Amino acid sequence: MEYHDLDATELSQFTDYDGHHIVRFFIDKDTGLKACIAVHNINLGPALGGCRFYNYAAEEDAIRDVLRLSRGMTYKNALAGLPLGGGKSVIIGDPSTMKTTALMEMMGSAVDTLNGDYITAEDSGTNVSDMETIRHKTPYVMGLTPEEGCLGGDPSPVTAYGVFCGIKAALLRKYGSQDMNGLKVAVQGLGAVGYELCRLLDEQGAELFVTDVRGAVLQKAREQFGTVHILELDEIFSADAQIFAPCALGAQLNVNTIPQMTFDIIAGAANNQLATPEDDNRLQEKGILYTPDYVINAGGVIAVGYEYFQQLGKNPFCHDLTHKNMISHVEKIRQTIGDIFTITEKCGIASGRAADEMAEALFNSGKNIQKSCGTA
Ligand code: NAD
Repeated sequence: MEYHDLDATELSQFTDYDGHHIVRFFIDKDTGLKACIAVHNINLGPALGGCRFYNYAAEEDAIRDVLRLSRGMTYKNALAGLPLGGGKSVIIGDPSTMKTTALMEMMGSAVDTLNGDYITAEDSGTNVSDMETIRHKTPYVMGLTPEEGCLGGDPSPVTAYGVFCGIKAALLRKYGSQDMNGLKVAVQGLGAVGYELCRLLDEQGAELFVTDVRGAVLQKAREQFGTVHILELDEIFSADAQIFAPCALGAQLNVNTIPQMTFDIIAGAANNQLATPEDDNRLQEKGILYTPDYVINAGGVIAVGYEYFQQLGKNPFCHDLTHKNMISHVEKIRQTIGDIFTITEKCGIASGRAADEMAEALFNSGKNIQKSCGTA
C-alpha cells in the first residue's frame, strides 16, 4: 500500500479545509483500496469518526466529503463532552461490488498508520462485520460486537434516547414543561433511530405523524403504537404537529421546506439537517426552535466513545465506564441544548451558530473535559 499526506497548498482549493491536522490518501493496487483519512483536530484527544464506503464520482468529491465530515466530528465530540477530537475516513468505490476481506483489512492497515490519532467506526456503507475485519490490522476501531459484560454494539437506540432527551430540553424552553402526553410529533424516517424514537414518544403518550419510503415499517408502527397518522413523504413538512423530528436524510431544512412548516420545534437524529447556514437563520426568523443536529444526535458517539475508553483501559472520567454512567452522560445532551438556547436568546444568534461557537471555544482552548468529568 502506498500513501501520502496532502499538504496545505493542495488542500486550500477545498472550502472545507480548515487547517486539518492530517489528511492522508491511500492506494493499494492489489486490493483496489483507494481511501482518505482526515483528522481535523486532536486538541481534546484522538480523533473518533466513522468510515464511509461510497461510490464518489471523483477523488475530489471524496476529499471534500472527508474534510467536511471530519471537521463536523470535532464539533460533535467537543459538545458531547468527550475528550476526543474529530476525524473521518472514506473508501472510494461501490461497497456492493468492491468490498472484500482483503480490502477491509488493508483499510485497517491504513488506519493503523495514524498510530491511534484516528479511531474508526462504522458509517454508511460499512457495518459491524467490516469493523471486525479492520480489527485484524489495528486496535483503533470501535463499534465491534460487544464481549460479555462490555460496552459496545449498535449505537442507534442510544442515539434515539439522546434525541428523546433533546426533545425534552426543547419542550422545557418552549412550553415550560416536558410533558409529552398528547404532544404531536412528526417523524420522518422510521429506521433504526426513528422507530426507537417513536417507541419512546409513544410510551409518553405522544401522537405520532410518520412517513417513510418503506410502507411495511409504517404499518408496523400503526400496529405497535397508540396514535399513528401515516403521511405521504412530502406531507411531513406541513404536518399539523408541534415537533418535527427528521430521522432520515440530510438537507431536509431548506428554502423549499421551511416555508411549509408550522412546527414549534425541530429536533431529530439526521445528520446535516440544514441545507445551508442561511436555513439556520430562516428557522430563527420563523420562531422555530431548532436543536442543532450534531448535538442532539450525539448519543451514538457517546456510546462508541465509552466503548473506546473501556477497550483502552484508560478512563478519562471521574465515574466508572458502566452502561448506566454512559446513559447519564447521554442525558447531559438536555443540559447542552438548554445552554445553546440560552446563548441564542442572549446573543440573538441562531441555534446552529450558537452550538458552533460553543464547540469552537471548547476545542480551540483544548479545555480538558476529562477534569470536568465529562460535562456535556
Ligand atoms: P436508517 O437507514 O436505519 O433509517 C433511515 C430511515 O429513513 C429508513 O427507514 C428509510 O427507509 C427512511 N427514508 C429514506 N428516505 C426517506 C425519505 N425520503 N423520506 C422518509 N423516510 C426516508 O438510519 P438511522 O441509523 O436510523 O439514522 C437516521 C439518521 O440519523 C441518518 O441521517 C443518520 O446519519 C443519523 N444518525 C444516526 C445515528 C445512529 O446511531 N444510527 C447517529 C447519528 C446520526
